[in-house]
Amino acid sequence: MGKPTGFKEFTRDPAPYRDTGTRMLDYGELYPPADVEKLTTQASRCMDCGVAFCQSKDGCPVCNVCPEWNDLVYRDQWKDALNRLHNTNNFPEFTGRVCPAPCEGSCVLGNVDKAVTIKNIEFAIIERGFEEGWVNPQVPTFRTGKKIAVVGSGPAGLAAAAQLNQLGHQVTVYERSDRIGGLLMYGIPNMKLGKDIVDRRVNLLREEGIAFVTEADVGGTGPNAIEQKQLRDDNDAVLFCTGATRARDLPIENRELKGIHLAMEFLHANTKSLLDSNLEDGNYISAKDKNVIVIGGGDTGTDCIATSIRHGAKNVVNFELLPQPTDERQADNPWPLWPKIMRVDYGHGEAAQKFGEDPREYCILSKGFIGDENGKLTGIKTVNVEWMKKDGEFTMHEIDGSEKVWDADLILLSMGFLGPEHYAVESLGVEVDERSNYKAEYGNFATNVPGIFAAGDCRRGQSLVVRAIDEGRRAASAVDQFLMT
Ligand SMILES: Cc1cc2nc3c(=O)[nH]c(=O)nc-3n(C[C@H](O)[C@H](O)[C@H](O)COP(=O)(O)OP(=O)(O)OC[C@H]3O[C@@H](n4cnc5c(N)ncnc54)[C@H](O)[C@@H]3O)c2cc1C
Ligand code: SF4
Repeated sequence: MGKPTGFKEFTRDPAPYRDTGTRMLDYGELYPPADVEKLTTQASRCMDCGVAFCQSKDGCPVCNVCPEWNDLVYRDQWKDALNRLHNTNNFPEFTGRVCPAPCEGSCVLGNVDKAVTIKNIEFAIIERGFEEGWVNPQVPTFRTGKKIAVVGSGPAGLAAAAQLNQLGHQVTVYERSDRIGGLLMYGIPNMKLGKDIVDRRVNLLREEGIAFVTEADVGGTGPNAIEQKQLRDDNDAVLFCTGATRARDLPIENRELKGIHLAMEFLHANTKSLLDSNLEDGNYISAKDKNVIVIGGGDTGTDCIATSIRHGAKNVVNFELLPQPTDERQADNPWPLWPKIMRVDYGHGEAAQKFGEDPREYCILSKGFIGDENGKLTGIKTVNVEWMKKDGEFTMHEIDGSEKVWDADLILLSMGFLGPEHYAVESLGVEVDERSNYKAEYGNFATNVPGIFAAGDCRRGQSLVVRAIDEGRRAASAVDQFLMT
């Protein structure tokens, strides 16, 4: 503990994003360079708790030893801090940018004051590491002769590949898309996670000896198809990390109208066009001059709002079915649980500045889309709802007379994901669970088929980057144990 009185002397002062008015004019990252002096002060607020909830599994899914690196940063021992960080997290540059930071939600200081700015410190440590040339490829010095196929190159697949490669196994990652990274590449937009940052890490992994095959659709039927049984026969083990890619649709009246898209169609096309041609090829769904409605919240909804603003949308509204969260924790949501409170994410702040108000409309149920005689979307019908608690369960009721029609030229559906697509594992006979995820227990990650493993969102359902990294790391241990004992 660098400064025993730090938490009493200094208040929380998180690093701001770039100026709202400027950043919404480009696709550059939200983050200005780290302010080292300020971070040293912020790190001194850490109390080095006897029971550090921040690094418990609920606080940090990869169990980062936050108090240790807070202390090392305060003492100006950045390289040691980097080593500690890499011990538990393969990709702090991803979590330092996109993680919602459950560690801060459970920080002990947050119980009586404001939490330590753990995420800012993580970001600064890894970026300093890259700047100073401390992050270099670690090429394994021996090889076991075992071959492993990892299917899917999101954070789970990449973390597993990194760990298995360090254990000496020969790893090949198969990815059906044209670029490596899963949702790090084609889900989370450039503003939140620059694609050069993803490539920087993938290049290191390549130099460490991992092979990557893009446009390789395992179990598919098209020209890029890779046959699963062949993959199984050619490898000692196969680990599926194919993500929760089946989006929830909204099958209400007139769903077939032109102008209604799943959020991922919009976000994927935008990033691909941005990377291929700086949006000059026109191969994306444009929100320019349109009334945009985003149905559903979360990270995906925010990303749709922010991307629409950068296209030059006329207006953006975001429908939420649930009520507006409260500003403070409720009695049934005490510390150290993740605080379910009202937050203003980057896209909400940008919409408020551009259009004069927060884009979110709460307690709105979509009833039917409206179109013109050419089959083009022109609006949506909604009704307001209220939520009531009965027998401990919340139930929803439509409010009579609250029907409304909204103008819309583009509607983006951002209502979550239903689990993985099954074609990747079907012919191997892999069982799925009651939520339609690939059935494998957390801990051993083995499916019912010997030598076939599953990890990440395809196993646990839609989640977070940090949880995917944790699953990838632990699945790697399980695969190694299967192969080496
Ligand atoms: C728009 C959006 C924004 C998000 N923002 C955040 C955020 O800010 N913070 C956060 O923590 N989490 C965020 N998430 C969630 C996070 O991205 C995921 O939880 C995480 O990426 C899951 O990792 P994964 O490796 O399990 O799967 P994914 O990242 O989904 O990767 C799966 C990969 O498998 C590939 N694949 C699928 N089938 C096959 C096949 N048959 N053959 C070959 N390859 C295949 C896919 O193409 C994909 O590349 C966001 C999610 C979305 C959709
Ligand atoms: S819980 Fe907060 S104050 Fe305690 S060790 Fe972790 S970061 Fe420091």
